Amino acid sequence: MGGRGDESRKIEIRRVGVAVSAGIAIGRAFLVGRDLIKEPRYHVELDDVEAEVARLHRAIAASDRQLEKIKGKLAASQGESDFHIITAHQLMVKDEHLVDAAVGYIKDESINAEWALRKAVDDIRGVFDAIEDDYFRERRSDIDFVGERVLRNLLGKETGPLQPPPDAIVVAYDLSPADTAQLHKQAVAGLITDAGGKTSHTAIIARAHEIPAVVGLEDVTEVVEDDDLLIVDGGGGVVIINPAPSTVAEYRDQQRREVAIEAVLLGNRDLPARTKDGAEIQLLANIDGAEEIDDAVAHGAVGVGLYRTEYLFMVGDVVPDESTHYQTAVEVLRRMAGRPVTIRTFDLGADKLAGFLEEAKLDEANPALGLRSTRLCLADLGRDLFRSQLRGLLRASAHGPLRIMFPMISGVAELRAVKAVLEEVKTELRASAVAFDEAIKVGIMIEMPSAALIADMLAREADFFSIGTNDLIQYTMAVDRVNELVSYLYEPLHPALLRLLRDTGRAAREAGIPVSLCGEMAGDPVVAPVLVGLGLTELSMSAVAIPEVKGVLRATTLTDLERLVERVMLLPTAQEIREAVVAHLEELGVQLGASR
Ligand code: PEP
Ligand code: MG
Repeated sequence: MGGRGDESRKIEIRRVGVAVSAGIAIGRAFLVGRDLIKEPRYHVELDDVEAEVARLHRAIAASDRQLEKIKGKLAASQGESDFHIITAHQLMVKDEHLVDAAVGYIKDESINAEWALRKAVDDIRGVFDAIEDDYFRERRSDIDFVGERVLRNLLGKETGPLQPPPDAIVVAYDLSPADTAQLHKQAVAGLITDAGGKTSHTAIIARAHEIPAVVGLEDVTEVVEDDDLLIVDGGGGVVIINPAPSTVAEYRDQQRREVAIEAVLLGNRDLPARTKDGAEIQLLANIDGAEEIDDAVAHGAVGVGLYRTEYLFMVGDVVPDESTHYQTAVEVLRRMAGRPVTIRTFDLGADKLAGFLEEAKLDEANPALGLRSTRLCLADLGRDLFRSQLRGLLRASAHGPLRIMFPMISGVAELRAVKAVLEEVKTELRASAVAFDEAIKVGIMIEMPSAALIADMLAREADFFSIGTNDLIQYTMAVDRVNELVSYLYEPLHPALLRLLRDTGRAAREAGIPVSLCGEMAGDPVVAPVLVGLGLTELSMSAVAIPEVKGVLRATTLTDLERLVERVMLLPTAQEIREAVVAHLEELGVQLGASR
């Protein structure tokens, strides 16, 4: 192995972090320094206070413009996750909590703008520090990035883009979304960071651009030196620093295998997801925005099984109106070119917050069990927004095969209540001679045990079901889906869950309505065969998971999967069930793990 660094004298070091974006990368380290600026601190004369405040406002405006420029460069070519995250930073930079607090410090304590800004940032950081929630803890780095940018503008220092050479592996304490989004354009091979977790922005963007990444490595920036040879195994969450030649050879093999498997899987794109004995399974995509559709189709999605519209409310400070809902839905239908699309009405609350909800300061002790989702749509706080969405969606239904789906339905009374609102909106549209699909199908998500247990009753009044296991697992096992401390209990193959799935599927079939499953477990190649064996014929998942799931299903027979399910339903723990399924798939010669 040739090389710039003298690897022969360095010891191979292995570190394990959080696996956030699959794939193997082998390349040279490009260290991004933390480069925190030390701000000058001094008092200003009373006469100069206003000038100091004006200086702060100018730096904030400059920061906003810079972020706008970065967004402008990204918008045309990239996924909107980057775009939305940078928009969130723009909102943060202008947020009154930050700006008013900094101005307050300048005026009350007669201190310079840099010092005041640092104090305001530290205050906000302190609030995030106190929150026992990974998602919010990770938002600390957002406020740091924003503060750092304003500080640089106050001091007249450049914030140019990072410029690693192509094929480098970027090593950082943490990366701002603006940096990460631009790295994609530099064709970096991989990313590793000290900070971060599964929902950190680095993770979200790396996944969106399929850059292998491992985060949460704690002090990797202190172990790695510039130009060190690195291996990043993004699926396994492993980083190898200065690997021995034999290790490099081993990972190159794995890399080749993964690339070959991926190519074969993507080659399946236009083949049906059909078992060997002819059972047709529909594999659809879960999306959060219209811009994800081209990728979904490229991965073989035959429709959109779940469009989570709440993201329309979570970015920017404008609440989406009827026209936004209409235009977005029409755009989704246009891009899907005749394939079916299921749009879910907004599922806000709990961990998904929007400006209007934050302003309402609900102060709930248990938000996951509180005024969220459909309950919010039926409450005074959400009713008008819900009606606008329904009007927009109904109007869009005149343009293509659109179904409307309500989340978090607890029982028949709630279903009737939302259907009554829908009927009112339809009546209004008819009165104004506005076209919509009179035969539009209206379905519900089954994501609470109460709904699963009376699925037979709900099936008489809903046109279709989609089982939302992300929440169904959380409410069945009483395990918070975003709490790392209890994540070991979050078990898709728990026998209790499998019974709920079996019974819900049976109820739907007996009532003659379609049923699909759109929780994350649908995209797990070990779990998907169990779902098919349970009788589910429609699975909706992240688009990247479709090729592998399809490959597994095409290698099996329905009769065989039904037998397998009969057998595993008698096993008492999720672990035994998983082991039995893996053993069975391996016996069939099914290759697992290509995209993980
Ligand atoms: C679910 O709960 O399984 C689901 C698909 O919805 P979300 O993940 O948006 O709650
Ligand atoms: Mg849900």
